[in-house]
Amino acid sequence: MISVSEALQQLLALVAPTEIEQVPLTQAAGRVLAEPVQATRPQPPFAASAMDGYAVNRAEVERHAMFKVIGESAAGHGFQGRVGAGQAVRIFTGAPVPDGASFVVIQEDVSRSGDLITISEHPGDSDYIRPAGGDFKQGDGLAAPRVLSSADIALMAAMNIAMVPVRRRPDVALISTGDELVMPGEIAGPDQIIASNTFGLKALLEALGARARILPIARDTVPSLTSAFELAAGADLIVTIGGASVGDHDLVAPVAAQMGMEQSFYKVAMRPGKPLMAGRMGTSAMVGLPGNPVSAMVCGHVFLAPMLRKLLGLTEQFPVQQATLAEPVVKNGPRAHYMRAVVKNGEITAFSNQDSALLSVLGQANALLIRPPGDPAQPAGATVSYLSL
Ligand code: AMP
Ligand code: MG
Repeated sequence: MISVSEALQQLLALVAPTEIEQVPLTQAAGRVLAEPVQATRPQPPFAASAMDGYAVNRAEVERHAMFKVIGESAAGHGFQGRVGAGQAVRIFTGAPVPDGASFVVIQEDVSRSGDLITISEHPGDSDYIRPAGGDFKQGDGLAAPRVLSSADIALMAAMNIAMVPVRRRPDVALISTGDELVMPGEIAGPDQIIASNTFGLKALLEALGARARILPIARDTVPSLTSAFELAAGADLIVTIGGASVGDHDLVAPVAAQMGMEQSFYKVAMRPGKPLMAGRMGTSAMVGLPGNPVSAMVCGHVFLAPMLRKLLGLTEQFPVQQATLAEPVVKNGPRAHYMRAVVKNGEITAFSNQDSALLSVLGQANALLIRPPGDPAQPAGATVSYLSL
């Protein structure tokens, strides 16, 4: 049995970043930027007015000063001439500040009569001019890797970047195994339950940027599992769920071996999730998760999420965070324990029932409290580590 960190290292060694593809800006949100991108023009491209008002020479700005209005500069339609002494140009937000002007007197500070304006209020110090390149300069850009947010999309649009280099979404094939399973919405026999793990994992992995395919449920027979693996061929990551222990009906390891899987390890010193196996199968990484629903989801967070981040070219993993125990916890056994817990205002409380079959408890949790192997009992107030869910 290997430790969680050794397992994670070996799992990460099974995957490499996917290829780079160019996608239109409208499809880039949530994708991982694979290469740095640069602005092809500055923003604003010219000194622009930040307000509606009158563009004048700063040296002439004082209360009661008078100017003759000689033209107009509107957004998209700049004033072509030059603003001379005693002259002003009517200007609007986003319009180019004309040559010779260096100050915008806002319209609230001006009284106008025909072509003449007078500065009627104290105009203050702000010139209400956004300098050329004040937002970004030509050649400024976004560094990679980076998960693209809506703000990044707006910024790239302003930078005139129409196509964005992103990592291909990793293709993940999810295989539930078991004679007892039916799909949600189907009619279950008296001895059957509904497959839940593949659905939870698809949601988890797609939220992180994967394209996850739920394959038909593999029955506990060699031919059924073999055909499921055949359907999964070519995926970046093949994930099986269940059938990973050593019971008579646990066929994942033997069938995977028969199909050429080179096993990296089997069994990790953790709770929940001990019967975890992994290896390489053709060009795919293969991970066999335990079937208990909470075990599968916890392993999804602890192992599959980091693999996916590596496939996406992300170099940083979700950080382990710290909180103080709201209530004491008992001594831990020889395996790392990932306890379903709630973190609130920096305090963490583990649920009393940690049975790995209870999805209802997982649903209430927002954290996995990490107990290292052999950790002694901890009092309330002790600092502990957790992973956010
Ligand atoms: P196994 O590892 O196949 O022995 O499964 C362990 C437990 O998890 C059994 O109670 C299974 O019924 C359950 N289980 C296995 N796969 C799934 C699944 N995809 N969805 C929900 N429960 C599952
Ligand atoms: Mg089974």
